[in-house]
Amino acid sequence: MELIIGSHVSYKKEEQMLGCVKEALSYGANTFMFYTGAPQNTVRAEIKCEKTKEALALMQEKGMELKNVIIHAPYIINLANPKTSEFAVNFLRQEMERVEKLGITKLVLHPGSHVDVSREEGIKNIIKGLNKVIDKTTKVTILLETMAGKGTECGTTFVELKQIIDGVNYNDKVGVCLDTCHIHDAGYDLSQMDEILAQFDKIIGLSKLQCIHINDSKNERSSHKDRHENIGYGCIGFENLLSILYHEKLVHVPKILETPYVDKEYPPYKFEIEEVKNKKRNDNLYEDIRNFYK
Ligand code: FE
Ligand code: FE
Ligand code: ZN
Repeated sequence: MELIIGSHVSYKKEEQMLGCVKEALSYGANTFMFYTGAPQNTVRAEIKCEKTKEALALMQEKGMELKNVIIHAPYIINLANPKTSEFAVNFLRQEMERVEKLGITKLVLHPGSHVDVSREEGIKNIIKGLNKVIDKTTKVTILLETMAGKGTECGTTFVELKQIIDGVNYNDKVGVCLDTCHIHDAGYDLSQMDEILAQFDKIIGLSKLQCIHINDSKNERSSHKDRHENIGYGCIGFENLLSILYHEKLVHVPKILETPYVDKEYPPYKFEIEEVKNKKRNDNLYEDIRNFYK
């Protein structure tokens, strides 16, 4: 089976998902992830059915499968803190409706930050919130992202994520999105991928792992910083990232790049996807990208 790989792409009001598909294709990707609006606010445009149909037709023509497409919930949704949880529940509900309307089945969500209540309270609030939005009719699977542990983030260990999953009544609709930068920053040693996956399987169950964010990290292990770096240019390194990209147990899982733009301007994804497909680090990555886009 071919590697399922894509990147974060932008979703614009006019072209909507059709624009996402075109952008992904320009990178040589066979899947993609997007926010249905700006990640930091809740302004959302009405989804246009004609644009969705055009997007689906183009995907079919190019052999892209809707089941591998990911939507990322806006990161202002914070279920963990009581001050924000009501707003978060309402907005998450609306977001799930949009995801369903697009026919997409995977929604990545940051579990939340407990802020001024205890971690235990925070986790309880996340569970409460998820139980408000997930019932037996829910079609979307919410993928809780593994977090770096910046500030008061919950969901920084597999045990914590399992705790949340266990509290949800209809938890067949809850899975996990593993972010390589985040688990490295949280303290996992990515040179030991088999060990990490064995742990994941024992604690959560590998079938729950339904999306992987592939990012290098600007910081040392256990830094709890959450600053993404381009593939092969950070503290995780190219070989360790390859070991997860090509892991035999993860062949069916979509892999999504969320690495930084070069000079804040040029998307690196076309070149990073190439690197990953060639299984060879591009020692000239930044120059190649600048030359291509300018
Ligand atoms: Fe995320
Ligand atoms: Fe991520
Ligand atoms: Zn991150």
